[in-house]
Amino acid sequence: MDKHKLFEDIYDSLKKEKVPKVDLHVHTNWTDGENSVFEMHEEACKKSLSHIFFSEHSRKSSSDWFFEFTKQVNSLPKEKCNSISGTEVKILDFDGNLDLRDEFFTECGLVMASVHRFPGETNEDFKFKKNLDKDKVEKTEFDLMISSLNNSKVDILGHPFGMTIKRFGYYPDDKLFDEVIKLCAKKDKVFEVNYRYHKNPKQLIAKCLKHKTKISLGSNAHSKEELGKILEVI
Ligand SMILES: [Zn+2]
Ligand SMILES: [Zn+2]
Repeated sequence: MDKHKLFEDIYDSLKKEKVPKVDLHVHTNWTDGENSVFEMHEEACKKSLSHIFFSEHSRKSSSDWFFEFTKQVNSLPKEKCNSISGTEVKILDFDGNLDLRDEFFTECGLVMASVHRFPGETNEDFKFKKNLDKDKVEKTEFDLMISSLNNSKVDILGHPFGMTIKRFGYYPDDKLFDEVIKLCAKKDKVFEVNYRYHKNPKQLIAKCLKHKTKISLGSNAHSKEELGKILEVI
């Protein structure tokens, strides 16, 4: 799989206002999804998708199941739909380190880095939403995202500002999205437009095109019904 070509093709389609038939954010029952790798692939074929990225959650502490998962993905037939194996991992700190096992990295066609926690948070902190103001939340998430752009292992920045939006219920100003999108272009990283988190996918795509930033489209599908949802809103 030539990832540069994939993202060039997606960009060119969107520029021509054509919807590329891809879903690059998919989870399966290897972690918190409902369906198997095989069922998701079958559904992707049914929906005439050309590419799906099996962006399974993994951690440094994950056991060897990940190798079995990538083996399954790599065994899928490619005639109708190309499957990419890889992982969605947490950005650990403000130095851009990832919660990613080195042995898994070599198995990945793509790596997506996402903010899922703020550094130093405990499970308790996470459960009870702390009373953080909008500026503080946005700034923390922004700094974490930007730090990950310096990590050469990262291909895609997953659901930018997802934590600010979903967990804290704040929607970042346009200017902040612009900043992140511009920095993605500068660092040659792909900005994900995510069905589950972003309320303005079309606007985000327009911003990416304006700043010549590569774009990924993800439904964050945890079931076959959710596969391809992002394509209905762009
Ligand atoms: Zn995520
Ligand atoms: Zn995800």
